[in-house]
Formats: sequence, C-alpha cells, structure tokens
Amino acid sequence: MDKEIPQYIPYGKQTVTDDDISSVVEVLKSPFLTQGPVIKKFEDRISKKTNSKYSLSFNSATSALHIACLSLGLGKGDWLWTSPTTFVASANCGRYCGANVDFVDINPLTGLIDIEKLSLKLKYAKNINKLPKILIPVHLAGTSCNMSEIKKLSDIYGFDIIEDASHALGGKYKGKPVGCCEYSRICVFSCHPVKIITTGEGGIITTNDKNIFEKMEKLRSHGITKKKDNFLNSDPAPWHYEQQDLGFNYRITDIQCALGLSQLERLEEIVLERNSLLERYRKLLHDLPLKLMEIPKDVFSAVHLGIIRFLNYDPLIHKSIFKDLKNNGIGVQIHYIPVHLQPYYKKFGFKEGDFPNSESYAKNSFSLPLYPGISSEIQEYVVTKLKESCKKYL
Ligand SMILES: *Cc1c(COP(=O)(O)O)cnc(C)c1O
Repeated sequence: MDKEIPQYIPYGKQTVTDDDISSVVEVLKSPFLTQGPVIKKFEDRISKKTNSKYSLSFNSATSALHIACLSLGLGKGDWLWTSPTTFVASANCGRYCGANVDFVDINPLTGLIDIEKLSLKLKYAKNINKLPKILIPVHLAGTSCNMSEIKKLSDIYGFDIIEDASHALGGKYKGKPVGCCEYSRICVFSCHPVKIITTGEGGIITTNDKNIFEKMEKLRSHGITKKKDNFLNSDPAPWHYEQQDLGFNYRITDIQCALGLSQLERLEEIVLERNSLLERYRKLLHDLPLKLMEIPKDVFSAVHLGIIRFLNYDPLIHKSIFKDLKNNGIGVQIHYIPVHLQPYYKKFGFKEGDFPNSESYAKNSFSLPLYPGISSEIQEYVVTKLKESCKKYL
C-alpha cells in the first residue's frame, strides 16, 4: 500500500500543535488545575468569537444541553422537540429533565430540520395542546439551520430555542457567527476531539440572557453561589456560600481550557481548511452518482463532516459500499442513526416510518474522512476506493 496512506483513516480527528501542548503544560505547572483563570479566559474568547454576551464552558456538550434545558424550566409534562438526525444527546437532555421528547423530520438534501414540517407539526400540536416548550435545531455537519424561520415560529408558538451547534463552531448564518444567539436563547457547542476545536471532552454555551446565564452558572457547580449579592441569607458569615438549587458538577478544568484557548486561535484557519477539503471532495466526486449535502446560500458551514448521499436509493448497495470502504481502512460513518429508532426511544412508541426522510437519509448517506491536515493523497485514495466500489454495484 502507498506509504502516505495510513492503515486506518478516521472520519474525523483532532489536530494538536506544539503551541497547544505548551499551553497545557503551562497550566499543569500553575497553581490552578481547575477553577482557575484560564476557564474565564477561554469563555471570554468564545464570547468574542461568537459575538455573544455570555459564555460558559462545561465538561461536555451533553452536560451543557442538560443545564440549558433546566435553565429554561423544562420539566415533567413538557415537550422537547429536536431532529431525529442527530446524536442522541440532543434528545436525551430533555429526558434528563423528565420531559417528553418528539422529533421533526429533516430535509433530506441538507440533513437539517424541515421548516415546513415543523410549521405543520406546530399547528397540529397547538390544536391538541401539546406545543413544545423547547426546540433544539441541530446544525448538522456545521451547517446552520434556517434560524430566522425557526425564530418566527417560536414567536408565534412561544417555544424556546436551544441551538445544538456541536458541529458548528466557526460557522456563520446570514453573515453572523453561529453562537451570537440572535435567533435563539442558548447555543451549545461541543469540544469533543472529532469536533471543530477540542478540549478533550468539553462543551460551551453562549447566550445573551443575563438571567439564564446566572442560572446556568450556578447549576454547573452544585447549585451553589458564592456571590454575596445573590445570597438569601441577609447576614452571611465571611465563609458563607449557599446552595440554592440542585445543581451538578459539570465543570471543565483549566487544563482542558488551555487546550481549547490555544486551539481557538486557529478557528478561522481550521474552518477555512475544512471548507476547502470539502471543495476538493466535490471536485473528485463530480462524476459519481452521489452528492454532498447541500449548504444553503446564507450559511457559511463549519464543515464538521463530509457527508455524501447516493442519488439512487438502495439500502443494500449503500451497505455494500460502506462495508467496502471499511474493509479498505476508511472510517466512514453514518451521521446519524435516527434517534427515534434507538431501542430506548422505541419504548416511547416511536417506530419505523415515523420520520421517513431521516430514515431514508440514514440508509442512503455516510460521512467520508474529513479533518484538518488530511492530505490530498488520502482524499484521492478515499475517492478511488469509493469509485471502485460504486463501479461494482452501481
Ligand atoms: C457530539 C455531539 C453532542 C454531544 O457532545 P459531547 O461534548 O460529546 O457531550 C451533542 N449533539 C451533537 C449533534 C453532537 O454531535
């Protein structure tokens, strides 16, 4: 096999530079491994990059989603809606709060929540008095959903919006950074190693709402406040702190934030590279019977994933090609198995056929390897193997 082609090519992975490593080592030698100054620095940088008033970092995006839902008062009897084409965490956060979860089907060309289907489902939900309290649109592959239309619907029907922007740090919508929260209350990013930047494990929230921000800050750390002005006790001792809610330990460490802060310096560079890697695939793939996911005109995608979709729907062929690539050491992956078809969600009565676009998309598409630093040789190798496989079956 060609020297430059590794044994296994993952669909995504982190890049860690010497500068990243030095930043982490610096914290390791400092007095604070956690709850020190680097967390705040990281959060301030995120606010600057996303043009949001407040940022909070967490030990994962999953924790961040949980806290986001709690801060908006989600609880038993409420409904949370999201897309079935997402990682399970976008739905699980509703279940953590005891809420019911339902889904809105996708537009199969973009993989994003279908606005028309959302609109119809809301109209119906209003009639039966089952409107959602929270909607979580998912910016699949780093491509923002149609947020202005979603915001219009939220104004009509009164639900809150949490953007699951786990894939979309560095992306833009209508010229503004994802995370600016112009069309949402809260936006959540993931810093897992396969995502745009990494802190090992980690998540970030952005919001412009001071009240919500303070609630989330407290819930991140046991529901405890150390801010004198917020004490309920009118005569606090000098050692006083108060647990006012039932919170969690969802804190991130300074060690992790040092890595994130250092990575954040390259955000624009990383996202531009991801966009040009996608363009390279576009050129290499042009004569195959498949398409990359569409990116709407008013979106600058962070291109977290390079998802292809076959033009002819044939689940058996899709599976064969997937297997061929895997056998050649190419880490293709389905993003995602529809959440409503997971055994846990089927228990609530969801079944095959409930969200047909999401289901057919999952049997007709997969992600090709795409990450900063992937060489043109590797991309060409991937496409060569894909072409060989297509020739066999298509
Ligand atoms: C990765 C991911 C999450 C969860 O992120 P963690 O940081 O791993 O908890 C949530 N939603 C989506 C869409 C994701 O891809």
